[in-house]
Amino acid sequence: MNFEYSDEQQMLKKTVRDFVDKEVMPYIGEWDAKGHFDHGTMKKLADIGLMGVCIPESYGGSGMDYNSLAIVCEELERGDTAFRTAVSVHTGLNSMTLLQWGNETQKQKYLVPQAKGEKIGAFGLTEPAAGSDVAALQTTATRNDDYYILNGQKTWISLCDAADHFLVFAYTDKSKKHHGISAFIVERTYEGFSSKATKGKLGIRAGNTGELFFDQVKVPKENLLGEEGDGFKIAMSALDNGRFTVAAGACGQIMACLEASVDYCHERETFGKEIGRHQLVQQMIAKMEAGLQMSRLLVYRAGELKNKGVRNTRETSLAKWQACDFANKAADDAVQIHGAYGYSNEYPVERYLRNSKAPVIYEGTREIHTIMQAEYVLGYRKDKPLNRTLPPWNQ
Ligand SMILES: Cc1cc2nc3c(=O)[nH]c(=O)nc-3n(C[C@H](O)[C@H](O)[C@H](O)COP(=O)(O)OP(=O)(O)OC[C@H]3O[C@@H](n4cnc5c(N)ncnc54)[C@H](O)[C@@H]3O)c2cc1C
Repeated sequence: MNFEYSDEQQMLKKTVRDFVDKEVMPYIGEWDAKGHFDHGTMKKLADIGLMGVCIPESYGGSGMDYNSLAIVCEELERGDTAFRTAVSVHTGLNSMTLLQWGNETQKQKYLVPQAKGEKIGAFGLTEPAAGSDVAALQTTATRNDDYYILNGQKTWISLCDAADHFLVFAYTDKSKKHHGISAFIVERTYEGFSSKATKGKLGIRAGNTGELFFDQVKVPKENLLGEEGDGFKIAMSALDNGRFTVAAGACGQIMACLEASVDYCHERETFGKEIGRHQLVQQMIAKMEAGLQMSRLLVYRAGELKNKGVRNTRETSLAKWQACDFANKAADDAVQIHGAYGYSNEYPVERYLRNSKAPVIYEGTREIHTIMQAEYVLGYRKDKPLNRTLPPWNQ
């Protein structure tokens, strides 16, 4: 077990931190207030190689390991949840899934440009009547000669307007319940496809989230990922990667809460002393620090298992659940420490509080992860070994 960052990881951390300080921090307040998703920043993320961090170099990525991806997510979310969410969806949910399940033609056509950041990928699982209950989805894919015809709707899809390619889950055989779900690579340019951003979100306002519509969309049969009926397994394996990035990002959210709160503790005085000298304020700071360190340990443990190709659904779920809860509490306490000033956008902590809520909901709600953990402990849930392993890293 090694708790040290490698030289390469330290350099990566510094690169992302510098990027966030220069390209995100000065503008994020305004983007958030205006609900502006900045495509230019996505392009810059790609230019410095952050869209394919743990994709092998042979497929256009940087060939780094999972914990390097965690570092990127942590540092990005220190700036704002929007860009970490973009990396989670593009890399964690889409590209890693293509790497794991795609055939060589699909990898060359879709994964390589995504890993290079030339194209953006997204993940379309949730529907108006199907969130936690994936098997309730209504979208259908009907085989017709060389095509599948897709009909249906997705909702709450991150990068809905920004992505070029979507992983879309649809029923090819509803009678088989979740064994009848299949996964497809859908291009934005296909006729009958459209998207619409959602307005009025509580947080991640600098992000892009919304609906996808499929009206008789012809998807070539070559764009079926895996086999017909593999869709549920594919979605769950994608979530194992996505949840890891969400957990790592939550550590960055706690870092941001700590930074803002420590500054304010030294700046604000009550009863003749810095508020940081009051023990009840110290308690909130201490809990943030404990949350950060515990979350990091859970994230890096899950990352180590991933690097070894060992099934890690249980460990990743625990990391995601705990880190997101700690981040949400840290943001709440950060506002508390700022008093009334924390309640306005004069300070960033109100944005942290709004942003920290979605990660407690997406990629498995707090309740779903609680149930998963209880079921593992009680012996009601057991995972099979991974049926497809990822290629070794750094090759
Ligand atoms: C900002 C944002 C971005 C998102 N991006 C994406 C994306 O890119 N792609 C995508 O596919 N989806 C995305 N989602 C959707 C997200 O994954 C779903 O919202 C999530 O899975 C929960 O589904 P739901 O909202 O339908 O809630 P529901 O499943 O309807 O749950 C409602 C409530 O009931 C509880 N509940 C449900 N079932 C149980 C149970 N068995 N036991 C106990 N409690 C239960 C839940 O915990 C929750 O509190 C995004 C959501 C947000 C907010």
